Amino acid sequence: MPAPQILTELEPDALAEALAGLGAKAFHARQIYAWLYRRGVADFAGMTDLSKELRARLERTFAIPTPAVTARHRSADGTVKFLLRLGDRREVESVFIPDTPAMTFCVSTQVGCAMRCGFCLTGRMGLLRNLTAGEIAAQVRVMAHDLRLADQRFNIVLMGMGEPLHNYDETMKALRMLAADCGLGVNPRRVTLSTVGVLPALERLATEPLMPNLAVSLHAATEELRDRLVPVSRKYGLADLIAACRRFPVARRERITFEYVLLRDVNDGVADARRLAALLHGIRSKVNLIPLNEAPGIPYRRPPDARVDRFARTLAERRVVVSVRKSRGRDIRAACGQLIVEGARQAPAQRAAALLDWSSRSSA
Ligand code: SAH
Repeated sequence: MPAPQILTELEPDALAEALAGLGAKAFHARQIYAWLYRRGVADFAGMTDLSKELRARLERTFAIPTPAVTARHRSADGTVKFLLRLGDRREVESVFIPDTPAMTFCVSTQVGCAMRCGFCLTGRMGLLRNLTAGEIAAQVRVMAHDLRLADQRFNIVLMGMGEPLHNYDETMKALRMLAADCGLGVNPRRVTLSTVGVLPALERLATEPLMPNLAVSLHAATEELRDRLVPVSRKYGLADLIAACRRFPVARRERITFEYVLLRDVNDGVADARRLAALLHGIRSKVNLIPLNEAPGIPYRRPPDARVDRFARTLAERRVVVSVRKSRGRDIRAACGQLIVEGARQAPAQRAAALLDWSSRSSA
């Protein structure tokens, strides 16, 4: 018997084509997508508007791998962290955040990460493997169904484990599968892709017909410091990254988000803030300041609130749009401690919750 085709790796058109080979009709592909993504039904037996005979044929031809929820934790503020087990028993973490202010799913694009940023635990794991498009999309499918939110509007951020632009094709394919109107129909404008700035892939992203919002993990305003904190910057330097951002086609009324993890006495001084404001001058941007989430093994500290405030004020005085994470870290950290996974796997959830909980500051 031939190995089953993985149905969840097929975009609607490819699924329709594969079905045609079975003598089924194109509209059946749309029905299957609806069952899978809108209703969370991941077995043919449950797809009751398909004929018994067709279901039996599908059963023989396709597999519908679906990650299993191995841990789920709800924090007091409503954030829910999922540990999902993939077909090869590797695990990824995905997060639901209820109020950022929209409902948001934070998903991973790789198991581990090759970027090795100095303050990030995921980087310590190294890259174990890329996720497939089906596995990236499945995180949303599984969480939306688990929380009964598939019929609601929500945002997606690619801020879990991994570097999305280091797994470009599968990431973009996942966004197309999630955008399919026969499925969840998530408009790419509701998706934010966060990247350290893998330049060739960023240039490619600029040409995509379905383009997500862009968030760039900057963390430093000089080449020397960024080289130290974000090793990939040694290959794709800060000046080139900023030039690519200037060229990036930002939709009207949108801005590029620049993430900046604040590390005490490393990048959190007034001079750093001034340099950052100058660097971003003329770019339609907003800065998200993330006071470091401290963790054992991370050789940096979180700055005190007063320093965070001063940094934000320095930016705002220079008319940079800036926001800072609200302090609900304690609750999240407690929540994280209850997830029975090793530290490296906890990091993304804690980070995502931190990242997405912004209290906006108005610029002066
Ligand atoms: N690889 C992508 C997306 C995943 S990381 C990227 O780097 O953008 C999402 C964000 O979390 C990044 O801005 C990253 O720098 C930040 N981050 C990593 N470790 C952190 C920590 N310990 N505390 C706070 N933010 C962290």
